[in-house]
Amino acid sequence: MPKPRVLSKIQMPPRVKGFNPMGYYRKNAEPVKLSIDEYEAIRLLDYEGLTQKQAASIMGVSRPSVTRIYQKARVKMATMITEARQLSIEGGRIFFDSSWFCCENCDSKFNAPLGKQPECCVLCGANTIYNLEE
Ligand SMILES: [Zn+2]
Repeated sequence: MPKPRVLSKIQMPPRVKGFNPMGYYRKNAEPVKLSIDEYEAIRLLDYEGLTQKQAASIMGVSRPSVTRIYQKARVKMATMITEARQLSIEGGRIFFDSSWFCCENCDSKFNAPLGKQPECCVLCGANTIYNLEE
């Protein structure tokens, strides 16, 4: 039986659920699916400029795991821009180090200490919030 993959810790969820290409593209083509751990690897390594060792420490996985996650992410990003495909960011074997919530009213995302459930949106005050991990 294959060893189950270790969960990757995510510091901050992606701001959007995905991206659409500009100009003409085949809207009915299957979107490229980037998992949230792959997104986090791109964010830490390419955006924050961290080393793979530093990213591994933050994500709580081994350095070879970060390398593997990052390589998959790079191929997906290349496929998205080369084939002009939509990108969706979802799923993955992940956990957050704090609880993240999204407001259905204003679409803002905010976090709270683990186990704490805010009663309303910190920005607009609406009580239409849901936990992003659920
Ligand atoms: Zn709100």
